[in-house]
Amino acid sequence: MKELSRKRILVTGGAGFLGSHLCERLVAQGHDVLCVDNFFTGTKDNIAHLLDCANFELMRHDVTFPLYVEVDEIYNLACPASPIHYQHDPVQTTKTSVHGAINMLGLAKRVKAKIFQASTSEVYGDARIHPQTEDYWGHVNPVGPRSCYDEGKRCAETLFMDYRRQHGLDIRIARIFNTYGPRMHPADGRVVSNFVMQALSGEALTVYGDGSQTRSFCYVDDMIDAFIRLMNLPEYAGGPVNLGNPHEVTMLQIAQRIVDMTGSSSTIEFRPLPIDDPWHRQPDITRATELLAWKPVTSLDMGLEKTVHYFSVRLREARHAEHARGLEAGQASQSSQPFSV
Ligand code: NAD
Ligand code: UDP
Ligand code: UDP
Repeated sequence: MKELSRKRILVTGGAGFLGSHLCERLVAQGHDVLCVDNFFTGTKDNIAHLLDCANFELMRHDVTFPLYVEVDEIYNLACPASPIHYQHDPVQTTKTSVHGAINMLGLAKRVKAKIFQASTSEVYGDARIHPQTEDYWGHVNPVGPRSCYDEGKRCAETLFMDYRRQHGLDIRIARIFNTYGPRMHPADGRVVSNFVMQALSGEALTVYGDGSQTRSFCYVDDMIDAFIRLMNLPEYAGGPVNLGNPHEVTMLQIAQRIVDMTGSSSTIEFRPLPIDDPWHRQPDITRATELLAWKPVTSLDMGLEKTVHYFSVRLREARHAEHARGLEAGQASQSSQPFSV
């Protein structure tokens, strides 16, 4: 007999950055966690520490194919999230968001599970209102290089709302704003991982455009706290909820902060701004604060310190491993950048 408080929880994309932190938290709470991932951007390393837990199970599976399991809750996180990863195979990105959502919603319908969608602030596109509230419909290019991600996530939201209206599913939609922290992929091209890796390697920090564009960065622990609160809400009307940290900074400010924090000698180098790069992004989290009694508690400095520590340890390990391989091959490597995409 299953204990009432112990739930069977499926996390798709569970070997990724956010997914691995979510699995860790749910395992610690004593739930039976099934992590499903195709390892496109996630890695076994991210969840290696959970593999020996009796209440954790890992399944290699691509959510664009049907999945038949018995669970009480589903967190649907599967989807590459960084621009270089989601633009690598844009057709697969749209399929993951759309076919993945249909399959997970079909599964939720069959087993009567509650289902959570990891949506994104990208549904607002290059927003014309600031900060962004949930009732803003967005300003998205449907045919640009970011569209596979933005429109895929918008269509997934539509599917979630229609499964609720048409089939009465219990859904939760989180619009996640930029989140950072340990276990981000070191070569995913996102701004925090790029700047920290560049600063630690003594390379120039690559600021795109003039660096005056803004983002609002949320530390991963705060975000996971919000995910679980949203899923656990007993009553919920179904609409999307912005989750993020409203503290807004320019890319130049964050570059400077990371250089100072790491004591790096890196300079700042300006590069062209990518196509359709949103200009400003800041969540209005009034709805989340009221619904979830939640607000982020980790300051940017505190979160960056933890992130810098994580990447410096990884960099040291990777250099040792490369050095050892070089010695084995009779030649020590000189490379200062051991990670690649
Ligand atoms: P991530 O790339 O680290 O994690 C995504 C995971 O999904 C990876 O483990 C990947 O291997 C897996 N995956 C991709 N395609 C799959 C498929 N077809 N089948 C099974 N698994 C698949 O990214 P993340 O930052 O952890 O993002 C997790 C979710 O949160 C994504 O849905 C993303 O869109 C959303 N999100 C993240 C942020 C952020 O700032 N981190 C912001 C907005 C939204
Ligand atoms: N599905 C799944 N697991 C299940 C139930 C359904 O992966 O346990 C998939 C199945 O591939 C189906 C999709 O979810 O195509 C949508 O299911 P739904 O019942 O909503 O629609 P239908 O089966 O009528 O297409
Ligand atoms: N960016 C930058 N240098 C980098 C990587 C990103 O200046 O090395 C900028 C990018 O142009 C964008 C912001 O940082 O304006 C955030 O980029 P990221 O890819 O992290 O997230 P997103 O654009 O999806 O919010």
